Amino acid sequence: MIRAFYIGRFQPYHFGHHAVITRIAEEVDELVIGIGSAQKSHEATDPFTAGERVLMIYNALENLPIRHYVLPIEDVRYNSIWVYHVISRTPSFQVVYSNNPLVIQLFREADFCVKESPLYARERYTGTEIRRRMIAGEKWEHLVPKPIVEAIRESDGVTRLRNVSASDGNSSL
Ligand code: NAD
Repeated sequence: MIRAFYIGRFQPYHFGHHAVITRIAEEVDELVIGIGSAQKSHEATDPFTAGERVLMIYNALENLPIRHYVLPIEDVRYNSIWVYHVISRTPSFQVVYSNNPLVIQLFREADFCVKESPLYARERYTGTEIRRRMIAGEKWEHLVPKPIVEAIRESDGVTRLRNVSASDGNSSL
């Protein structure tokens, strides 16, 4: 039985994440999905709460054919202990999938098997580009699974993102 771990901020969850998770599901028996930076919300780079992100991903993965867990994970101040912080909050796992260089480095140093997940149409499917489109009033809905569109509408997420981006000068997306 192989259980894998995959972490992202998912601000918001998009088709790039979805393609990776669908592919992981073909290779392992169970998947733990970590909602990273769970303490963050209402910021230009992190507009959605952990609870909203749990709901988004839960709904988007309704038909994923393997058992999966969606768990919020707060950041910690020290990168050197982060892997152990993750372990303390998740069911045990044997393999980590990631494309984030820091995540890969930290798990490899802790002797985990890490598989580098491929990027899918990175120029289109990035949280940065989707948030930029939301703020600019451009179409973004085609870049995320339908349940994500519904969840963002339900929480009036685009208005929130515009408001918090305006309040911090929209300096970084
Ligand atoms: P993200 O949502 O930007 O990306 C999640 C994953 O999806 C990454 O592996 C990324 O490369 C991949 N991805 C993005 N676009 C893709 C595409 N188009 N196709 C395929 N894959 C794509 O999240 P992230 O910022 O990488 O998440 C890492 C989390 O781990 C953050 O919350 C970070 O704070 C946390 N972290 C915390 C600490 C600490 O607390 N000290 C240390 C390390 C990491």
